[in-house]
Amino acid sequence: MCGHLQPLALSDPRPQYTMSSPSIGSFPPRSVAVVLGTRPEIIKLAHVIRLLGKAAVVLHTGQHYDRGLSGTFLDAFGLGEPHAYLGVGGETRGQQIGMAVRALDDQLSELRPAAVVVQGDTNTALAGGLAANAAEAILVHVEAGLRSYDRRMPEEHNRVLVDHVGDLLCAPTDVSRKNLLEEGIPESRIRVTGNTIVEAVHELMPDPSERARLLDGHNLTTGGFVLSTFHRPENVDDPARFRTVLGELASLHLPVLLPLHPRSMARAEEHGLGDLLRAIRVIEPIGYREFLGLGAESAFLVSDSGGVQEEVSIYKRSVIVVRRSTERPEVLGTFAELVEPGPGISDIAGRWTADIPGLHQRLGSIPSPYGDGTASARIVREIGDLIVAP
Ligand code: UDP
Repeated sequence: MCGHLQPLALSDPRPQYTMSSPSIGSFPPRSVAVVLGTRPEIIKLAHVIRLLGKAAVVLHTGQHYDRGLSGTFLDAFGLGEPHAYLGVGGETRGQQIGMAVRALDDQLSELRPAAVVVQGDTNTALAGGLAANAAEAILVHVEAGLRSYDRRMPEEHNRVLVDHVGDLLCAPTDVSRKNLLEEGIPESRIRVTGNTIVEAVHELMPDPSERARLLDGHNLTTGGFVLSTFHRPENVDDPARFRTVLGELASLHLPVLLPLHPRSMARAEEHGLGDLLRAIRVIEPIGYREFLGLGAESAFLVSDSGGVQEEVSIYKRSVIVVRRSTERPEVLGTFAELVEPGPGISDIAGRWTADIPGLHQRLGSIPSPYGDGTASARIVREIGDLIVAP
């Protein structure tokens, strides 16, 4: 451990936070390992990494190894190459977690960071949490306290486990703070920071002229199409559910653009759903700027993604969330409606399609529950309060 770092105290009560925060420049180089491995983790940790500057050392597990889901996102935020790629993608959940813990343990033994940052609810986040705990580094969980209370979702287990092993829990909203308190997690470990997705969207949302070019490129008109994504195992691994989802999309009265995740494409082919795919405009996954620009110009979205539920509240569109449950209740009834695969999808879509200008006008006046775009700066300040000597 570097001599100028405070000794770690992993047992409660946690160290008290100082009133005046250290400046970023006072962080020792490579004192914070940032562990990521998937598209949403890159998006939501980009600003934290940038603010940490030389203090950050990025470890990429390789959970998303496809360039379209990883490299292009690192490039979009100008993050450069990670310190290490651990190559754990493409295995089962248990193997992925086990392999990632082992590979991260090797890295953390060598780097000896004071803190390890993980984000969200992926296998990477859980592996990062366990490896940080074993290395006796302070574990920072970005986007802590989300709960679907649906134990059928592997992500629910990941997020609960990371929160309980974490030392600094950065909850995006008061809802997530309350979830943590209800599980007996001490208040001293929790900070409500807002969600870092806000600054990511603000940075990469294309301007109106670029959005007009994007629409032209896809032969679409503003407010005249639906943007969709599907990748959750509960929808795409079950042939009947996936068939229903694609059938519903194909029946909508607006063109549907579906940038399809590679795992969903593989499942559609396995399940023999090619005919239904041909009734929709299926494309490869697209870059973040393009996705945001098209989302903002769409009539509405239909998706099972977590991040999309947050983003729509920032660019003021609505999303039909096709899932059994959501861990983001903050947007339900305003920017999002939750529905299981079935006719509910076309019912809601029909209602919204009947008055798209009215829908957009109504959403335009509703504030996002995810904060003001300062979450990353708050998180970095909180990390500094823990690891930099006053
Ligand atoms: N996204 C993207 N290109 C696409 C599809 C999605 O940039 O073709 C973005 C989307 O805006 C969101 C993130 O990827 O921020 C969501 O990733 P994913 O659905 O894989 O994960 P989840 O948010 O469900 O954890």
